[in-house]
Amino acid sequence: MKALQYRTIGAAPEVVTVPDPEPGPGQVLLKVTAAGVCHSDIALMSRPAEALSFALPLTLGHEGVGTVAALGAGVSGLAEGDDVAVYGPWGCGTCAKCAEGKENYCPRAEALGIRPPGLGAPGSMAEYLLVDDPRHLVPLAGLDPVAAVPLTDAGLTPYHAIKRALPRLVPGSTAVVIGAGGLGHVAVQLLRALTPARVVALDISEDKLRLARQVGAHEAVLSDAGAVAAVRELTAGLGAQAVFDFVGAPPTVTLAGALAAIEGEISIVGIGGGALPVGFGTLPYEVTVSSPYWGSRGELTEVLALARAGALSVHTETYSLDEAPLAYERLRQGLVDGRAVILPHG
Ligand code: NAD
Ligand code: ZN
Ligand code: ZN
Repeated sequence: MKALQYRTIGAAPEVVTVPDPEPGPGQVLLKVTAAGVCHSDIALMSRPAEALSFALPLTLGHEGVGTVAALGAGVSGLAEGDDVAVYGPWGCGTCAKCAEGKENYCPRAEALGIRPPGLGAPGSMAEYLLVDDPRHLVPLAGLDPVAAVPLTDAGLTPYHAIKRALPRLVPGSTAVVIGAGGLGHVAVQLLRALTPARVVALDISEDKLRLARQVGAHEAVLSDAGAVAAVRELTAGLGAQAVFDFVGAPPTVTLAGALAAIEGEISIVGIGGGALPVGFGTLPYEVTVSSPYWGSRGELTEVLALARAGALSVHTETYSLDEAPLAYERLRQGLVDGRAVILPHG
């Protein structure tokens, strides 16, 4: 089958032919209908060899949806032809975190060599994807594959971060979204659907600010030297009760700290290498700072339910598998509006 692989440190990913996978006992084989392109892949492909904890080549794609093509021995509860979304952060399945559905925080996964598809295990940017266990699959139940696939990460990750901040996002509060890209433009919609907060989006690109307004941001502000003053003015000097940083670079985490209100919450979701010092006097009183990773299985079912209820409109642009390297190049250049989605059979 055809697959998009990251093969050489620092080089662009390549479309190659690899052996057709076959499901072993307990596994499920999916015919991939759509695979999402995440900025984390670009971060991964920018790392030096010693910073990778797995060997290349790697088939990319940690957002995936597909149709069940074959069941390994002993698999029940699914049938060939079922349309499913893949929960990506695979854990051991037996520890306390996994029992809660928080496989994203499984403390045993690394030692056991369990890695998410596309982030160590072969990913969804291929004609077929092997899923290690049926518990990683959530029924699509009528959702369109292209619109649904970004929800497995670009939806789930902000959903998890926002859910933690819900008690602070009362009427009259403000939520700031830094970076209105794949994750950020879904975050704006999640905030509108789940909270009465005023939503302020920040980006360095006018196109992304336009997208943020289009999907529901009350305000869209250029992320430049004037951003702190602009947001303070919008909040009568108080700042934002929640700040979600979908860039996570040194200037944006500093910005997040400057935009937070007393008792506010800052979520550093972007993996841009920034760090925010926490100590008495460095931030407004009692600000909470966290760096969440992905979300739980239960939260994925909630995000998909919200989409089914019509509350989310993910902006996508689609590419064939042969065009996938172009999708990554466009993402790197900041040219993707919303999420790029690869159609391996398209
Ligand atoms: P993206 O490229 O689609 O979006 C990033 C957006 O940030 C773009 O719109 C860009 O214009 C904007 N931006 C860049 N610099 C900015 C600045 N200084 N101020 C304001 N906006 C700025 O990327 P994405 O796929 O949405 O991913 C966003 C980040 O989240 C990446 O760092 C990615 O690796 C990370 N991520 C983290 C998790 C997690 O679990 N923590 C999960 C998925 C993605
Ligand atoms: Zn991702
Ligand atoms: Zn576990």
